[in-house]
Amino acid sequence: MWALRSLLLRAAAGRAMSQGPARRQRPPKDPLRHLRTREKRGPSWEPGGPNTVYLQVVAAGGRDAGAALYVFSEYNRYLFNCGEGVQRLMQEHKLKVARLDNIFLTRMHWCNVGGLCGMILTLKETGLPKCVLSGPPQLEQYLEAIKIFSGPLKGIDLAVRPHSAPEYKDETMTVFQVPIYSEQRCGEHHPSQSPGRLSPERSSDSRSTENEPPLPDGNGISRTLDGRDPSLVVAFVCKLHLKKGNFLVLKAKELGLPVGTAAIAPIIAAVKDGKSVTYEGREILPEEICTPPDPGLAFFVVECPDEGFIQPICENATFKRYQGKADAPVALVVHMAPECVLMDSRYQQWMERFGPDTQHLILNEKSVSVHNLRSHKIQTQLNLIHPDIFPPLAGVPCKEEGATFSVPTVRGECLLKYQLRPRREWQRDAIVTCNPDEFIAEALELPNFQESVQEYRKTVQEGPAPAETRSQHPEIIFLGTGSAIPMKIRNVSSTLVNIRTNRLSRQRPFLSVLSLAPLCSSDKSLLLDCGEGTFGQLCRHYGDDVDRVLGTLAAVFVSHLHADHHTGLLNILLQRERALASLGKPFHPLLVVAPTQLRAWLQKYHNQCQQILHHVSMIPAKCLQKGAEVCSPEVERLISTLLGACDLEEFQTCLVRHCKHAFGCALVHTSGWKVVYSGDTMPCEALVQMGKDATLLIHEATLEDGLEEEAVEKTHSTTSQAISVGMRMNAEFIMLNHFSQRYAKIPLFSPDFNDKVGIAFDHMKVCFRDFPTVPKLTAPLKALFAGDIEEMEERREKRELRLVRAALLSREPAGGPADRKPQQKRAHAEEPQNPQSKKVRAN
Ligand SMILES: [Zn+2]
Ligand SMILES: [Zn+2]
Repeated sequence: MWALRSLLLRAAAGRAMSQGPARRQRPPKDPLRHLRTREKRGPSWEPGGPNTVYLQVVAAGGRDAGAALYVFSEYNRYLFNCGEGVQRLMQEHKLKVARLDNIFLTRMHWCNVGGLCGMILTLKETGLPKCVLSGPPQLEQYLEAIKIFSGPLKGIDLAVRPHSAPEYKDETMTVFQVPIYSEQRCGEHHPSQSPGRLSPERSSDSRSTENEPPLPDGNGISRTLDGRDPSLVVAFVCKLHLKKGNFLVLKAKELGLPVGTAAIAPIIAAVKDGKSVTYEGREILPEEICTPPDPGLAFFVVECPDEGFIQPICENATFKRYQGKADAPVALVVHMAPECVLMDSRYQQWMERFGPDTQHLILNEKSVSVHNLRSHKIQTQLNLIHPDIFPPLAGVPCKEEGATFSVPTVRGECLLKYQLRPRREWQRDAIVTCNPDEFIAEALELPNFQESVQEYRKTVQEGPAPAETRSQHPEIIFLGTGSAIPMKIRNVSSTLVNIRTNRLSRQRPFLSVLSLAPLCSSDKSLLLDCGEGTFGQLCRHYGDDVDRVLGTLAAVFVSHLHADHHTGLLNILLQRERALASLGKPFHPLLVVAPTQLRAWLQKYHNQCQQILHHVSMIPAKCLQKGAEVCSPEVERLISTLLGACDLEEFQTCLVRHCKHAFGCALVHTSGWKVVYSGDTMPCEALVQMGKDATLLIHEATLEDGLEEEAVEKTHSTTSQAISVGMRMNAEFIMLNHFSQRYAKIPLFSPDFNDKVGIAFDHMKVCFRDFPTVPKLTAPLKALFAGDIEEMEERREKRELRLVRAALLSREPAGGPADRKPQQKRAHAEEPQNPQSKKVRAN
């Protein structure tokens, strides 16, 4: 019955080719309301200082999250630093990105700007007309570089206010930028330990002096004219406006002042400015009719990435002015600095010089705070369904002893707040706490959940035993299964393939397989796409083991240049270098199979922002197409290295139907298995051909059935289209991923689902022997997400009803095609509630 109805509806949809007008009960929330309010106030509006100002930790400096701060008053909102994953955290914790006035960046390093490209794309889609970035002058070049993959960024006015620009002032505060240059000459090797990152600026030889003439400045530090400058960090001194006292009307009346007449205005103005007035021959002091003013407190945001910056910070004249007697007392200093800096006695003395009334907030890798709470919650619950397929996330490391301080110091935690006004105090009520028992209890109480889990376990026990001969490898770990924008439940595209190679057993035939097992497990791995936050996902998946995994990484495949598929690459490269160093393995560049356009982005970022090219050996994806012309001998050599490293017989790519230069790929292992990955695409014949008889097809299924038209417009596939591609390919199993973020927890199942299809979740781990199990998880999954499925089905039914109506209308003689035009315009009004995801960008 249902199938018939849906067939009818689809036929109707085909005829009408329109989704009809979308009816909304409520008008959509206007994310830019604050801007219009501000416009109304006009430029002459004098607020007289904000009443409330808070500073909140977005990311506490851990290796998986970096360090970022959100500062807000009733008038303005600011972000300090925007590493990978910051946008996702802001979305999860409801810190509105659309309301950001300013983004301040302390340093041109990927750990601070890695999430900025994604953030800018989101701000642009929200319709924010202008965004100002303050900090290192290289931000200008950064914006130029991201245009290589983002397009021209029309519609948003992006301005860079370098540290040399005059101070910035708005309704809340005045911000002074303080440039700090490292003692170490840039380009020389020095162990730069940013908070959260340890990234040796390597190989002075790769720094071409021909193109980048060194510029000696006053400190004898050589910098480049407008190229990268790792010796520069920018600190921010933020001074809140003085809050004038409140005029006490009753007191004024008691004193016989002309309250309620025009004559009172100059009196109010005077006493608020702290001046006494004379009224009818009598002097009235401001404190008689006015509460005392709130002084213009200051707070600092200071990054000290390594010891080379300690002395310059200690000697900085601007900071000195605020230490001791200053016109604005320093309420808080935020330190983004590794432990080695904090333990340095010079740095500690510098902290002490602010006096006992200044609080200090530390953001670095010693942080043990959980940030991505929803990710932990869903994984804890999925783990109840199948403990191996949904392995628990890595626990939070225990607190270790860090540096000790003689001044008031607090270690950062996600959402920890410091209230600067009205009263200076720490507020811990919003801090994220992770309680797995609660998540478990919640799931167990869901109707039918426990029953369906038991039911499915019975079918597994009764079914044929899994073939023992099936190796546990390859292991597929889905790290990001959402499209477009990183969101709390699903991060953007990335899949890790762990491959067991036979190298060890071949080289050491005398050792038994058993004794080699620990050595062999996952001894080579590949990443299929690498969206923003992929490293963070790896961290949460593997915990301390992440370095080992990065050490085994043989290559990254980048399918195409949409931001949700490649902007996690640089962090992988930088963290891999650190991992190799900590494992005592020699550094060598990572193989990256990608459209050649990726090189242009890397090159530009490398030239102007940060040295990264030495991390990459690129194999153009087109060189791996079937029948491709022989590439250069160098590329041929890289290809055979890749095949040899992973015991692959073949690594093939094909062009798919998405944007220009979008590829899918197929990996064929020497033991016979074949894994095919679609990247983003509409149903694609070339992929079907390349993927013939695949053991596993990983295919995108961005949209649900019934949204075929939208899928064409956005060059994606629907669920049934993806399944159909797999069936035509004769794939043994199909895993669907890259779901639109409107299906936050689970996509809608289509009637085409069968025992060869599974849906991917972030952190899901699948081996070939799990294929019979995965489809059986559907019932427990439906029970776990019953509420969400119901909501999505309601939306679908409403849409289908509209389609039927539109189809009926189109049959009536009066309803010609011309009548449908206005409806088509609104075809995509149905979107998730979250304002950030309202417009799902082309991805
Ligand atoms: Zn795409
Ligand atoms: Zn995508």
